[in-house]
Amino acid sequence: MNIVFMGPPGAGKGTQAERIVASYHIPHISTGDAFRAAKEQGTPLGLEAKKFMDQGLLVPDEITNGIVRERLQEKDCETGFLLDGFPRTISQAEALDDMLTGMGKEIDHVIDLHVDRSLLLARLTGRRVCRSCGATYHVLFNPPSQEGVCDKCGGELYQRADDTEEKVGTRLDEYINKTAPLLDYYQAKGKLRQLNGEQDIDAVTEEIHSILRGQAE
Ligand code: ADP
Ligand code: AMP
Repeated sequence: MNIVFMGPPGAGKGTQAERIVASYHIPHISTGDAFRAAKEQGTPLGLEAKKFMDQGLLVPDEITNGIVRERLQEKDCETGFLLDGFPRTISQAEALDDMLTGMGKEIDHVIDLHVDRSLLLARLTGRRVCRSCGATYHVLFNPPSQEGVCDKCGGELYQRADDTEEKVGTRLDEYINKTAPLLDYYQAKGKLRQLNGEQDIDAVTEEIHSILRGQAE
């Protein structure tokens, strides 16, 4: 099963991806996670990506396409994958189509989580992420049992550097200008399924499962 999750920053892609990959036993490929890991390790890729991420801007397509191209060729992608946060521009979507065609594959489902901009700010500024396992929480909407500590692995929770009010504004503008046009791109290909990402976390997961089982209306 080859799946793409779309939606603005804070729509719940990472939260839902954690659950869906556990059910389908496919890898979760998050370009944001890949860039953050490279940044943390101080690799040349990380240093280049940092210049854009720190401003809330998208990393250039050539850099981003390169990491996805390599990742999709790994063995664990043979039975499927879930892309989270890629593609984010028309040019990335075209590059993805080329990559998959070259591998004799195609995207099965593009699932768009729709959340109103007014709610995204609250979601992003309250987000906390586990430094060890990457699990995502929210101080109000999905708090851990013990403040600052991951329920799953006991790791330390931190706030992402780009989850500040100022950076969120730029990131949401990038989404509107560069990523939202992709909805028409996938609609025209008959791949797009949109759902209400403002429902509670379990309800969203249930709807995604229905779509993947081919049972949603
Ligand atoms: P994305 O990966 O799309 O940027 P996340 O999955 O990291 O979004 O979610 C952003 C924040 O919103 C996190 O703090 C998460 O706990 C919270 N969140 C995710 N889904 C929901 C939901 N359905 N209802 C309330 N809060 C949610
Ligand atoms: P995310 O974790 O998906 O919110 O992404 C965090 C940041 O990583 C974004 O604001 C961008 O700077 C960068 N990034 C992640 N995915 C992409 C992508 N597909 N294209 C360009 N930049 C990306």
